[in-house]
Amino acid sequence: MSVSRTRTVYLKKAIVGCPSEDNFEIREENLSELKDGQVLIETHYYSADPFIPGMCASKEFEGKPLNGYISGKILASKNDKYSEGQFVMGLLRAATHIVTSAPFEGLYSCNELFVVEPTDKLKLQSFVGALGMPGLTAWLALRHDLKITKGCTLVVTSAAGAVGSLISQLAKKQGAGKVIGIAGSKEKCDRLVNRYQYDVAVSYKSANYAKELAEACAGGVDCLWDSVGGKTLEMVLGHMKQGGLFIMGGSISNYCLTDEEAKEAKEVQGRIDELITSKNITKTDMAVFQYMNEWNEGIKALGALVAADELVFDESMEEGLENVPQAYRDLFQGKNVGKQLVRIK
Ligand code: NAP
Repeated sequence: MSVSRTRTVYLKKAIVGCPSEDNFEIREENLSELKDGQVLIETHYYSADPFIPGMCASKEFEGKPLNGYISGKILASKNDKYSEGQFVMGLLRAATHIVTSAPFEGLYSCNELFVVEPTDKLKLQSFVGALGMPGLTAWLALRHDLKITKGCTLVVTSAAGAVGSLISQLAKKQGAGKVIGIAGSKEKCDRLVNRYQYDVAVSYKSANYAKELAEACAGGVDCLWDSVGGKTLEMVLGHMKQGGLFIMGGSISNYCLTDEEAKEAKEVQGRIDELITSKNITKTDMAVFQYMNEWNEGIKALGALVAADELVFDESMEEGLENVPQAYRDLFQGKNVGKQLVRIK
């Protein structure tokens, strides 16, 4: 094996509040000898995904390698399914080099290592973004859960992010009428309208948020994709029609809370539950991991849309393994535009 050492990010301290350098440490270690069934991967890109800090709020993960999606190249293989030189994507860990074997170490039911085929247009980095888990979330949500009827009004939160920037474009293809995006700044709102096919955009940080949201939602909201939770969700639910559809994709405002924040969040959640009941809203939790058997199809479909210039997306890049903490900080402070990545090689 040509490489014998690796550098890996470990979770040092469970994350409370915004992720910081103190939560992580990098350890340099020997790579184990490649055994039958194993592959050695050189990591090129690491994806900073909101669910990772969300999970790392638990002390259970202290002292363990930091999980996450990576894309990279197979340097050596003792597994019949993979060969040297292939490019792969999977839910592994934040490390420069990884020795792993099937069923790969991913969390939930995501333990597959996908072989991917980068081109000039479909870059390796995007296989952990628009062509990977976040893109598949949007694609599969629209295929199964987020039922778009012709001309419907749809609201999307965290709209300028990796998932939200694609939901609008895919929903428009399915005939959505008015798509309203909610994001954290004027610049992001401009991008929603000018680039991601949103009809209207509202910043939840605006001093006039309540008024601007009410204007945008005049006529009522049929469907909602929410991945933020908390007060932003509560306010949108107030504008939903009786019998509307609410797909819950995540709840980033509720990740890594202090005890005090968690107490307040519980009160808000109580009001959210009341609104769902009183408006007879259908609420469905959607997880991209529910549909693992459709991922290969989705990766191809997303790639075809990108190659045909029918789907646009953006990426924000941090440089180097030591900047993984910074990538997570950016994500939780809303500094990312589109998918937040870290270049490892
Ligand atoms: P992202 O939107 O690219 O990045 C996260 C964004 O969340 C930030 O840019 C920021 O945007 C916003 N944000 C951060 N803290 C916030 C807070 N306290 N309140 C409101 N907004 C906040 O991330 P993503 O990868 O696309 O993921 C978005 C959501 O989808 C997350 O909740 C994630 O867990 C969920 N997700 C779900 C699935 C699934 O299978 N259901 C799969 C992937 C992702 P602003 O500047 O606009 O605030």
